[in-house]
Amino acid sequence: MVQSYKHEPFCDFSNQRNQKEFEAALQKVETELGKNYPLIIGGERIFTEDSIISVNPANREEVVGRVSKATQELAEKAMKVADRTFQTWRKSRPEMRADILFRASAIVRRRKHEFSAILVKEAGKPWNEADADTAEAIDFMEYYARQMLKLKDGIPVESRSMEYNRFNYIPLGVGVIISPWNFAFAIMAGMTTAALVTGNTVLLKPASTTPVIAAKLMEVLEEAGLPAGVVNYIPGSGAEVGDYLVDHPRTRFISFTGSRDVGLRIYERASKLSTGQIWLKRVVAEMGGKDTIVVDKEADLELASQSIVASAFGFSGQKCSACSRAVILEDVYDQVLDRVVELTRELTVGDPSKQSIKMGPVNDQGAFDKIMSYIAIGKEEGKLMFGGEGEDGKGWFIQPTIFADVDENARIMKEEIFGPVVAFCKAKDFNHAIDIANNTEYGLTGAVITNNRENIEKAREDFHVGNLYFNRGCTGAIVGYQPFGGFNMSGTDSKAGGPDYLLLHLQGKTTSETL
Ligand code: GLU
Repeated sequence: MVQSYKHEPFCDFSNQRNQKEFEAALQKVETELGKNYPLIIGGERIFTEDSIISVNPANREEVVGRVSKATQELAEKAMKVADRTFQTWRKSRPEMRADILFRASAIVRRRKHEFSAILVKEAGKPWNEADADTAEAIDFMEYYARQMLKLKDGIPVESRSMEYNRFNYIPLGVGVIISPWNFAFAIMAGMTTAALVTGNTVLLKPASTTPVIAAKLMEVLEEAGLPAGVVNYIPGSGAEVGDYLVDHPRTRFISFTGSRDVGLRIYERASKLSTGQIWLKRVVAEMGGKDTIVVDKEADLELASQSIVASAFGFSGQKCSACSRAVILEDVYDQVLDRVVELTRELTVGDPSKQSIKMGPVNDQGAFDKIMSYIAIGKEEGKLMFGGEGEDGKGWFIQPTIFADVDENARIMKEEIFGPVVAFCKAKDFNHAIDIANNTEYGLTGAVITNNRENIEKAREDFHVGNLYFNRGCTGAIVGYQPFGGFNMSGTDSKAGGPDYLLLHLQGKTTSETL
């Protein structure tokens, strides 16, 4: 009997034993830095001449791994393998597929800190953020395995006398998984395992700045007993390999998490019929956010300030759920702003290998340049209260940055920055605050800090986001507890870690037998 699902607890790093274990894991990972990782197509290891060099964003000289790079020919080879493997994998028992996920999650749990240590090095995550990323990867596998067991016999439908009707879910085919660097383990593993546990085969193209953690997932899946060819690991450039596979007539679905612009490009390309294509491709897209914490005048202001700091600057604001707008009722605006500045002063920015560092680097030069350009815009649009500086020498570091008195229509109130920048905006009353919060093309997360029950109910109806939180921050959705995904330009509202997520990878088949 499968035990009921519970999310993986976070590690308490104030405990010395945990600290020691994490340090040991970091040391172990350091001895493995710079290794070469091949593509894996149908179980075959393929080394290419051209490679993706994954570096530590806190120390760009440190090479985390050299990863082989797929070309269109290799992508085609992988597609053929995945297409062929689908013919057997689609008939595999759902219980067996679920068992592979249970085993994979157990393998990761046993070596948990090792995976988190890779995330510290490859993604620049502080310890607690890396630990949460690994915990979420475990959760996705545990949760989706159980969801598959629930779906395996379909859903009962009515039958008349002398007939037997059944309604079952069958897999789609080959899925292209294009995963992000910000939850380099969790989201990558969640997208991949959801696709495979439902009986599809996968072409996994991880983000180019974090391919090593994906190579590690491949090792885990193999150890857990996944047959060759079910998941094929093909890192490569979006322009060369990504477009090619999105356009491919044998691609049945695309599961994407990343920026709005890339998401739109995929959505558009996937809608065009390629020669020989006999289906409408399905696109599951999780895109950007412009997320807001609203602070009411009747509210716990300390809670509000702590929530804003944690949600704006956790993992340097590089979450699509990050708080990039604080909309505060004018009665309490100054108090909250002052306290947020005070709390932000305590954040230490630097190399997250050290436990004392609370904020690490940003992802790469492109991220650094984009965030700094928004900081320049912010200096025009608001009053700089803290930060505003960046340093791209050894790594890509940006100070947590707070702008005050920003107009509700300013660019930094509407465009996604994806960095440690938060804009403060004053609202006349609660309705005005909700209007400001909704004044964006995104609709991913939001939070309301209030003690006013009527305002909670108002926000529940009118604050148009996929994940709305009360009296807490707007990041950190837990698999199976807070299904995650957003409205409007935030994507297809495909709720990762939710009860209907697997259905996005399946199609319903009705069979009716006359008895
Ligand atoms: N699920 C994450 C959270 O709730 C965010 C995921 C993302 O940034 O893509 O914070």
